[in-house]
Amino acid sequence: MTNVPDYFGCMVFNDQKMKARLPHVTYKALKKTIQNGEPLDLSVANAVANAMKDWAVEMGCTHYTHWFQPMTGVTAEKHDSFITPDSDGQVIMEFSGKELIKGEPDASSFPSGGIRATFEARGYTTWDPTSPAFIRDKTLYIPTAFCSYTGEVLDKKTPLLRSMERLSSVAVKVLHLFGKEDVTRVTTTVGPEQEYFLIDKKMYDARPDLIFTGRTLFGAPAPKGQELEDHYFGSIKTRVAAFMNDLDEELWKLGVLAKTKHNEVAPSQHELAPIFSTSNIATDHNELTMEVMKKTAEKHGLVCLLHEKPFAGVNGSGKHNNWSIGTNTGENLLDPGKNPEDNLQFQLFLAAVVKAVHEYQDLLRITVASAGNDHRLGANEAPPAIISMYLGDDLGALVDAIIDGREYKSVGKSDMLTGVDVLPDFKKDTSDRNRTSPFAFTGNKFEFRALGSSLNIGCPNYMLNTMVAEELGQFYDVLKDAEDFEKAVKDLVRKVFTDHKAIIFNGDNYSAEWVEEAARRGLCNFRSLPEAMAHYIDQKNIDLFVKNGIVSEAEIHARYEIELEHYVKQLHIEALTMIDMAQKNIAPAVSGFVGKLTQTALAKKSLSSSVSGYAETSLVEELSELLEQFVKKTAELESAVNGAKKYDGDNLAQATYYREVVFALMGELRALGDAMERKTSAQYWPYPSYGEILFGV
Ligand code: ADP
Ligand code: MG
Repeated sequence: MTNVPDYFGCMVFNDQKMKARLPHVTYKALKKTIQNGEPLDLSVANAVANAMKDWAVEMGCTHYTHWFQPMTGVTAEKHDSFITPDSDGQVIMEFSGKELIKGEPDASSFPSGGIRATFEARGYTTWDPTSPAFIRDKTLYIPTAFCSYTGEVLDKKTPLLRSMERLSSVAVKVLHLFGKEDVTRVTTTVGPEQEYFLIDKKMYDARPDLIFTGRTLFGAPAPKGQELEDHYFGSIKTRVAAFMNDLDEELWKLGVLAKTKHNEVAPSQHELAPIFSTSNIATDHNELTMEVMKKTAEKHGLVCLLHEKPFAGVNGSGKHNNWSIGTNTGENLLDPGKNPEDNLQFQLFLAAVVKAVHEYQDLLRITVASAGNDHRLGANEAPPAIISMYLGDDLGALVDAIIDGREYKSVGKSDMLTGVDVLPDFKKDTSDRNRTSPFAFTGNKFEFRALGSSLNIGCPNYMLNTMVAEELGQFYDVLKDAEDFEKAVKDLVRKVFTDHKAIIFNGDNYSAEWVEEAARRGLCNFRSLPEAMAHYIDQKNIDLFVKNGIVSEAEIHARYEIELEHYVKQLHIEALTMIDMAQKNIAPAVSGFVGKLTQTALAKKSLSSSVSGYAETSLVEELSELLEQFVKKTAELESAVNGAKKYDGDNLAQATYYREVVFALMGELRALGDAMERKTSAQYWPYPSYGEILFGV
């Protein structure tokens, strides 16, 4: 297949297919729901279900599934066939509007954070018509939201959809104050850049740590890492290129706008970026992208690692969440235009984002917290754990001028003169990039860079949408009855920038000085998930979600418990995997090697007193010492893991204990293991080395 436009979206029940296959009135009713959020009635659902089924059956499908995003961190699906018995003992393929709209998976096996007693096992999935259905593996996938029988939200999609609605309704009201009566809907857009590692399947299969935890728990550095800076944007190896081509093709068939691909900083690390779409579709597509990456890798004898830190000593993987707000009339509300100094509407929306990020910096930090991302944030490779905003020189100067009440003239775009006749000259962007900022303005959008690679982007986006909606709501209340609207906007923008300038930082976020400066500014610096998560349930955060109708207080508490519990379980599995590897393979291997060295030394001695056994003896001494410490440290780790039981019932205390005690011991055990790996014969070492894994593809 070569002609992309011919097959792009061929596996999606997209607008084109709906238009062709639905009666005109049904199509129009459905479009109203998709575009304006209007409720949908059963007769429309019946017609849509039937058309979807006919298309799916023509495409060879026998089953459908409601596809949802529970709090597990991965997507969930339960397949049902279309078959229905008919009167003469045969079957026909049927799919009703009711089946399209509502599914009833058993909710008791999904995390609920204690929100629901196990006897209330029933849960519902509800069709999300704003994200199109698609076909994978001869099954029709229907994107859905997931809630409990009693209506509590149990997934990541529902809050996202609610936050989009909420932001739209307040932003539209604000825009009407600016006289933009033709704006009826505002949508948040997202383009997530996805990093990943690709390694050989044979290497993966030989590493229990990768299999059970997604990251290497032991592993001495290879002689070469990323220091030569030769992998980033480097020429793509044939095997990787074949994978990437296949991936693009699969994604395009599924209607995912895969656009950019390149090698990343670390060896074996790569990135894929799509063209942005609505937050909701971007979230579904990012989940789909991660799944298709894994499946496509398998076909090529590779494994795609989405863990935030699969390898120590080289960069981990993140996700850049490019986020903006646009109107149904095609305007990007975060586009400063040619003269941002005169663009009060832009200034007001910018002020809303500045105030939101300052007041809810803790929530932004919380939403990217995970056991995996704890290895990146603050570790001088990814954005730091301190949330701040980068506006660039131009906007930064404008904000300063507004605060000081000075006139400001923007410099505009200057020419980039290449100095070579055959190379075209072009306009430079007005702002340079600051790669160290966790939340950077990049022309007409913000790039939130602190996300871990495996994160479901629904969460950061519903938080972002909600906090900005809250600020816009407050602005609306101030401005709605203003006598002199322009003056009121100017005063408000000036006040907001003055009160919240502490969140703006254009310097180097990786520097030690910034940590001190941020503390002086009163910014949060949560170094780990337990530290951050403790603030999830601060009253101001509960108020934010409850007031804006996103999730209830009980649901926030549930989410808080789920996150902590998940963290504890992950660290627990990592610790057990380490102990297992240490006891069953590493210690016996080193002991075997020491035994062999000892035999050789003794044999040498018995051969002749003039043969020195120095090489073997010194290694035996060194390794025996390390091995003894290693075995003792393993026992210490084991008893520390057992000690965690005393915190059963208190997830925060248990998570803190895992971070402070268990995680610290794991680091110490790893250091001993890696020291032994450096000294042990490769023939004896039980696992593939970093060199083999990272440079093997
Ligand atoms: P770069 O970061 O290399 O300059 P771009 O700015 O073109 O690249 O885009 C980075 C990502 O941001 C892409 O996924 C792109 O689709 C996305 N993006 C661009 N404009 C918007 C927007 N208005 N809203 C959300 N995402 C956007
Ligand atoms: Mg980027």
